[in-house]
Amino acid sequence: MTQPAFNSSQVTVFFVLGGPGAGKGTQCARLVQDFDFVHLSAGDLLRAEQVREGSQYGEMIRTCIREGTIVPSEVTVGLLKNAMAAAIAEKAGAGWADGKGRFLVDGFPRKMDQAEMFEEQVCPASMVLFFDTTEEVMLARLLERGKTSGREDDNVESIKKRFRTYKEQTMPVIEHYEKANKVAQIDSSQSIEEVHKHASAVVNKIFGL
Ligand code: C5P
Ligand code: MG
Repeated sequence: MTQPAFNSSQVTVFFVLGGPGAGKGTQCARLVQDFDFVHLSAGDLLRAEQVREGSQYGEMIRTCIREGTIVPSEVTVGLLKNAMAAAIAEKAGAGWADGKGRFLVDGFPRKMDQAEMFEEQVCPASMVLFFDTTEEVMLARLLERGKTSGREDDNVESIKKRFRTYKEQTMPVIEHYEKANKVAQIDSSQSIEEVHKHASAVVNKIFGL
């Protein structure tokens, strides 16, 4: 079997999960400021690939995003692997505080096969930060965001499909990592500031700071 592209002595990878609208992206941006993480959002990478000139995946990604279904794992894992390599190359020399690259991989893995492929080909994950709240809260946030996001999937019809994919495909991923004691659950119902306090404390503890 081939080795993963990166190993745990070079990089620390946290997966960031939670339903759509749970606050993953918002909280990742805050944790970047605290801990010098590189923040890679799988959804953002897919949206960039969707509009990249010459991409053979554009139409397929557009359809998946609108329908709230999961893009085939080789596409998303490939984008993440390239983005990690680019970030590591860019940081070389300047380096990270403890000499190790720190990554928040946001909105990933959404499905078990993504988890398996990433851990086999890219890098083993240390932890899963799981931002958890109710569908009611998530729906309200997504509709609010939809007023300005320009995202084709921030509408009630797509949101319902995304909730369903989350329950059917992503919850099993969280359960898988729970069995391995790798999940830190964070209630994300409160304000950005409150959730950030909790999330920051959790990461401090993981790093033993
Ligand atoms: O995380 P975000 O809400 O930005 O993801 C938007 C969409 O991108 C998802 O609904 C899904 O269609 C696709 N996606 C995916 N696999 C991921 C992350 C996102 O297929 N790991
Ligand atoms: Mg996001």
